[in-house]
This record gives sequence, structure tokens and C-alpha cells, in this order.
Amino acid sequence: MPIARPDWPQATTVDEIRHNLDVVRQRIARACARAGRDPASVRLLPVSKTVEEARLRLAWQAGCLELGENKVQEAQGKAEAMADLPVRWSLIGHLQTNKARHVARFASEFQALDSLRVAQALDQRLALEQRTLEVFVQVNTSGEASKYGLDPIEVADFVQQLPAFPQLRVRGLMTLALLSSNPEQVRPCFVRLRELRERLRPTLPAGISLEELSMGMSGDFEIAIEEGATVVRVGQAIFGARSTPDSVYWPTPAPEPSP
Ligand SMILES: *Cc1c(COP(=O)(O)O)cnc(C)c1O
Repeated sequence: MPIARPDWPQATTVDEIRHNLDVVRQRIARACARAGRDPASVRLLPVSKTVEEARLRLAWQAGCLELGENKVQEAQGKAEAMADLPVRWSLIGHLQTNKARHVARFASEFQALDSLRVAQALDQRLALEQRTLEVFVQVNTSGEASKYGLDPIEVADFVQQLPAFPQLRVRGLMTLALLSSNPEQVRPCFVRLRELRERLRPTLPAGISLEELSMGMSGDFEIAIEEGATVVRVGQAIFGARSTPDSVYWPTPAPEPSP
């Protein structure tokens, strides 16, 4: 049975944003109840891409103390404009090595690590800034060529290399499911991420944790919670529908420019 897709009206006041947050939290609680999980074990990361600063200030008042952004430039602009508020910024989209220096300055978390070059660039820049960064390794669980993230079979070797980057605090795995309204197509992506984590657990290097599983968005976060998500990344169900298509955010990876 397809998931009912609500049409996500724009939230333009503190009350509307607060109401949407309440609804999402209730849905998280019900999904947790179905799965026999504690709702406190699921972190709601509000995703604010395309939402302008004025509404983000309302979101802060409504209780969004952390915000997820897909693109570095947009995230950095907002972080600078809102430097008067202690927002915890999480970058959840693909990063090119030449933008690592920006991320090292303002971000608290990066959820889309999928190359050692980016890990090294971040680590060097973070050391200069005397900062650390919470990190998730992005895994491509859908098999779609158009998505970023490591192939699941590459992840074991990849995480063995991560202790070389002491400024990165490796917390878990992140994935985007197949974009489909059919839960029977979405669910296997989440199951794959959880099973991968279980397989890797016995051989993790010291200091590397994969306890966090970031999976699930507005259209599929309840399924993700049933399959073990500890972080759900929710934008449209909080702020309203976006006019930009998702293909803007997960295009076919282009070759990286040489440094
Ligand atoms: C935009 C985005 C989300 C949230 O999607 P919504 O449909 O707005 O909930 C989650 N993860 C990533 C990587 C995104 O870019």
C-alpha cells in the first residue's frame, strides 16, 4: 500500500512550525511504540534547505536548536547570518574537498562522508580551527547510480582508515532510501544499513562508533524508525513542501576537480 503523501502546507509562523514539530514528534512516538523502542532514542534533525533566514529564526523560537542543510554555501550563509543564535549546524549533503575549509569553521556535524580525500581535508582544516566534527559515513543502500555514498561492500575497509583523522568523531552511518512511495521498496534500504552496521560492529577500530543510523525523511521516517533509525532528517513535514526538485540535491556525482 502506498504511503499517503500529505501536501505539506507552508509553515510561516512560530505556532505553525511548532504544530508541525508536534505532529512529527507524535508520529515518531507512535512508530517507536510499534517497534518497542524508546522515543528518546530517535533524534529529530530539522532540515532547513531552501527555507529563508526569517523563517529559520521562527523555527529557532519553536524549538529547532539544530538545523540540517544539504549544500555548503547555503549552510554557511545562514550560519553567518544567524551567528547571534547558538544553532548546531549539520551538513547532510555531498562535500567537495575544496569546500572542506568552510565546513570546518561552522558545522558541528557532517553526515555525508564518503571519501578519504574529504576526510583528510576536513581533518586538516579542523585541526587548524582547533575544532572537531561529528561524522556519519554515507552508504548507498539503494543501488541507484545517481546517489552519493559508499557501496556497502566498501564500508568495512573505509572505516578502518578513519582513526587517521583524529578531529573526526565518527558516530554512525547515513543513507537515503530509494525515492519511492512504496514502503516495500523503501524498507530494504533501511534494513541494509542496519545489517551493515551489525556486521561491522565486531571489527570496528578503537574510537570509531557506528551506533547512530541516520535514515528517514518526511516521506519515510516512520519506516526508518521501525528499522532502527536513531536520527531522522525531516524538512518538508516541518517547514512545508519545497518547490525545488530532489534531483537538485542528489544529482549524478561529477568527477572532482583536482586540488
Ligand atoms: C532534503 C533532505 C532531507 C529531508 O527531506 P524532506 O523531504 O524535506 O524531509 C533529508 N536528507 C537529505 C540528505 C536531504 O537533502
